[in-house]
Amino acid sequence: MQALTNRAKLVERKPMNLLERLYLPAVFKGMTITFGHMFKKRPTINYPEKKRPFSPVFRGLHILNRDEEGRENCTACGLCAVACPAEAITMEAAERVPGEEQLYHEEKYAAKYEINMLRCIFCGLCEDACPKDAIYLSETFAPADYQRSQFVYKKEELLIPHPIHEPDAYKKALGNRVQRGKVNQ
Ligand code: SF4
Ligand code: SF4
Repeated sequence: MQALTNRAKLVERKPMNLLERLYLPAVFKGMTITFGHMFKKRPTINYPEKKRPFSPVFRGLHILNRDEEGRENCTACGLCAVACPAEAITMEAAERVPGEEQLYHEEKYAAKYEINMLRCIFCGLCEDACPKDAIYLSETFAPADYQRSQFVYKKEELLIPHPIHEPDAYKKALGNRVQRGKVNQ
């Protein structure tokens, strides 16, 4: 078959010596490594009974943050979408109307906000770009699914639980963020 490029290089194969042709030293070396591992501490963790501690820099599923009164922090400025190298974020902005002050922190908010987790590379640039502490990457994995459409997370799925109405769920979603002092900066 004709090569598609001229980058192929012919490699000369060195003839094997007697020891190499016997194969036994190589087999013995392999067995030594195998037996050596048998007496080492097992790295297997019995998940889900036991959970591995996350690294302090672990980046998981995104959360859209609220302030201490439960108002959505996001002001739909679009900086996260611009910073995203995977073009995974889309949103639609809307103006807050009188009477919605308890729902949205700013005069403008994200009426729609979506992240395509199949595109996301969990780099955290959206979190870094956000001037409102409105988005962060949590310590939760994006669960597996059979449908591609299920990986497009909508605002309702991304929003953190309400801190006043669901305080336990809110604390759980925050995880180690409280200790790291990143809440409502
Ligand atoms: S973590 Fe990175 S790739 Fe994922 S949405 Fe944020 S900026 Fe985009
Ligand atoms: S999450 Fe932050 S950066 Fe993204 S649109 Fe909302 S306020 Fe702007």
